Parts: sequence; structure tokens; C-alpha cells
Amino acid sequence: LDPRLVSARASELAARLTLLIIRDVTEQERLDQMRRDFVANTSHELKTPVGAVSLLAEAIESAADDPAQVRIFASRISAEAARLGQLTGRIMSLSRLQTADGANDFGPVAIDEVVAASIEAHAVQADSAGVELMRGGDRGVFVRGDLQILIEAVGNLVANAILYSPTGSRVGVGVKIEGETVEIAVSDQGIGISESDRERIFERFYRADEARSRRTGGTGLGLSIVKHATQRHGGEVRVWSRPSRGSTFTMVLPRIDAPMPETTDRKTKK
Ligand code: ADP
Repeated sequence: LDPRLVSARASELAARLTLLIIRDVTEQERLDQMRRDFVANTSHELKTPVGAVSLLAEAIESAADDPAQVRIFASRISAEAARLGQLTGRIMSLSRLQTADGANDFGPVAIDEVVAASIEAHAVQADSAGVELMRGGDRGVFVRGDLQILIEAVGNLVANAILYSPTGSRVGVGVKIEGETVEIAVSDQGIGISESDRERIFERFYRADEARSRRTGGTGLGLSIVKHATQRHGGEVRVWSRPSRGSTFTMVLPRIDAPMPETTDRKTKK
């Protein structure tokens, strides 16, 4: 054993360790910064509807003898409350997705069920926007995952597709087996997304067109939830888009074989 070699090896190891520690510290700093930003953004987003509700309540007080005015203010309070509800719901989903440690409760999930539920949840929204919702592609595909998380993710894509589409257009949800994966694609014929925005839309609270998104009632959290939900399932999200032509968001997930029906038999016989 050559002592010079040993000492060279030791200093090499020490250097590597220092590098690792530095990397760890900067990663920690990055995470801390992200957390601070999230809290700041969240507080800012919550302040707007809360402020509106308190102003509207004052307006109701001073319009007490004008029932028509009171009704208008009251319905605006309901709208702001609904927005607050959506916002807090999404913040909770995102924080659950970011903190819960993984796939412990994952089981076989039928993509048919995910697609059907996400479409059904947005049928009324599509109807009032005059958008036709369609589904197609492969049936009987399964992934290992969490049904509710997947319904929420695909549902967010469907909601966006409707939100950013003109009346009379179509939104499609398609399922395609690709080797060991399944692709769930939500396509629209809407406003599309510019190339520079495409890189940022998955960030929390990012909106391509702040003014329009606010008017359409977006939270800027939908796609962030889609991204985290997909990653939690070992998959990835792809986006194709052409401004004023439309967009397609595709969740690519690892696929599993259809579960044996006897597994459920055994459970029910017990
Ligand atoms: P939001 O709640 O504002 O829709 P998201 O995180 O779901 O937030 O989306 C971020 C931004 O990406 C939106 O504000 C919008 O500008 C853009 N976007 C998302 N989906 C679409 C789509 N299907 N067509 C056009 N723009 C979209």
C-alpha cells in the first residue's frame, strides 16, 4: 500500500464530499426560496378575493333598502367565495402532492374511469362555453396510481382546454398505448400558447396572459398540479401548441397489465 496513493485518494474524497455538501446547501437554499415565494404568492392571491368580499359586504350594508342592488352584490360575493374555494382547494392539492412521500397507497387505476370522470366533471362548463367534449382512443388501459389525483390532473387539462377555446370548437380527450406507456392527450382548438410562455406555464401562479386569465377565473396552479401529479406517477407532461390554432397537453404514464379479476373476487369472498 503506497501512502502517497492513500493520501491522494483521501484528498480526492474530501474534495468530492465538499462539493456534495455545497450542492446540498444550494439545493436547500433553492427549496427555501421556493417556499418563501409560494407563501408570498399565495398570500397575494388570497388577498384579492378576500378584499373584494369585504368591500362587497360594506356595499350591501349601504344599499340595504335597494333589494335589486343587494342581490347583485350578494351574487358577486358568491362568485368571489367560489373563487376562494377553488384557490384554497388547489393550494391544498399542490401542497399534498409536494409533501406526501410517494406511491404507498397506489393501486391499479383504469384510465377509462379517469377519462370518464374528468369529462363528466366538466360537462356543465363545456356546455355553457359552447364547446363540444369528445373522447376516443384505446380502452381497457391501466396504470399504477391514485384515481383521485389522476382525475384532478386530467380534469385540470380539460378545464383549461375549455377555458381557452372559442364557442363552437371541440375539445378531445384521447388515450393511446405506446409501448410500455399510455398517453392521455387533451387537445383544443383554442388560443394556443407562445413558445416563450410554453416554458413557464407549469410554474406555480404563472399565467400567459395575466389579464385574460384573471377574467377567465384561472388560478395559475392548474398545470403545476398536472406536472406534480404526473411526476408522482413516474410520468411526464408534453405540450404542443400553435398560437391561435390550439394546444395539446399529453400526460405520458407508465402502463401496467390489467389487474386479474380474481384479486377482487378473493377480497369480496373474505
Ligand atoms: P390557470 O388556472 O390560470 O389556467 P394553469 O396553471 O392551469 O393556470 O395554466 C397556466 C397558464 O397557461 C394559463 O393562465 C394560460 O395562460 C395557459 N394555458 C393553460 N392551458 C392552456 C390552453 N389549453 N390553451 C391556451 N393557454 C393555456
